Amino acid sequence: MILPIIAYGNPVLKKKAKPITPDYPKLKELIENMWETMYNASGVGLAAPQIGLPIRLFVIDASPFSEDDDLIENEQEDLKDFKKVFINPTILEEEGNDWDFNEGCLSIPDVREDVFRKPKIKIEYFDEDFNKHVEKLDGLAARVVQHEYDHIEGVLFTDKLSAFKKRLIKGKLANIEKGKVNVSYNMKFPKAKKRR
Ligand SMILES: [Zn+2]
Repeated sequence: MILPIIAYGNPVLKKKAKPITPDYPKLKELIENMWETMYNASGVGLAAPQIGLPIRLFVIDASPFSEDDDLIENEQEDLKDFKKVFINPTILEEEGNDWDFNEGCLSIPDVREDVFRKPKIKIEYFDEDFNKHVEKLDGLAARVVQHEYDHIEGVLFTDKLSAFKKRLIKGKLANIEKGKVNVSYNMKFPKAKKRR
């Protein structure tokens, strides 16, 4: 089932999300719905707060990046199979020199900005069967995980921009809150006027 994606301005996107236990109600179905919702919106990642649930869960399928010609062949191969469910993750380490990449977010349609992040991470998480994994990631895989991880910490990529950039997109963000944006998928806007 495709779920509406929560737009910028909803307080659920600013909350630190809570861990879940294996008996979380209808978890398999929820994960299925998140995949469906993400693919329908042509996203590479979706975090539970973006469908209104403040829990530590996100899904990532980075395979669209494998067609990016700017990447070295190795990285293209790695990203082709990068499809994972992350439950109760913890980023254990982040290292290297900050690099910038143009990011977007399904909750903030039509806004793309360069965001600086560290290139390498070590992350611990549980998969959909609650098996524990500890992995080292770099490049775009690390980047997408960092973006989704921020969501469950209540942080959006727009929070990481300079004061100047924030000022430049202020109007656009205000319009998104009101639902004044063209978007091809179903969204829930915090300040949308009710239609009579
Ligand atoms: Zn996002």
